[in-house]
Amino acid sequence: MTNHWFPAYIGLGSNLQGPVRQLENTFGLLDDIPGTRLIKRSSLYRSAPFGGVEQPDFVNAVVALMTCLSAPELLAELQRIENERGRERDDVHWGPRVLDLDLLVYSDQIIDKPELKVPHPGISERNFVLLPLAEVAPGLNIPELGQIETLDVNSGEPAISRIG
Ligand code: AMP
Repeated sequence: MTNHWFPAYIGLGSNLQGPVRQLENTFGLLDDIPGTRLIKRSSLYRSAPFGGVEQPDFVNAVVALMTCLSAPELLAELQRIENERGRERDDVHWGPRVLDLDLLVYSDQIIDKPELKVPHPGISERNFVLLPLAEVAPGLNIPELGQIETLDVNSGEPAISRIG
């Protein structure tokens, strides 16, 4: 932990065991991470599943945090929360999950390791990340990608709608 505060953006997704309740609970758990404050949360969005696995719709959201943790320390906290919410580590890739947490953006850092890629490679490809991120962070300048409003919404993707 440092004594500086850094902005970080987290993507949340769930499609099992009451996804809306899972996400509402997770907002509180993110605010409880040591050295971390939840600053803003997006609306909830519903999206059709991606990747060809038969499964329920996903509910997605994005939050803005301020944190004194480094990016790897923050990722470890996200993985602890995922595991505590009952996610199995051998889940099917793109399959159903109780809770998926992605570190989307961490300050102006660029990290490219298998266990931690920041900015998250899904940002520009997934409307369920792009739309809630633009809602919580209008004008955000994402390292290597540019300003969020300049990224195109992908018309070929499954439908996404704001649910509250
Ligand atoms: P998934 O939960 O399917 O999105 O993938 C989890 C795996 O992705 C874990 O092994 C993480 O170490 C790795 N990973 C790489 N970059 C990130 C990131 N920015 N946020 C979350 N997980 C990441």
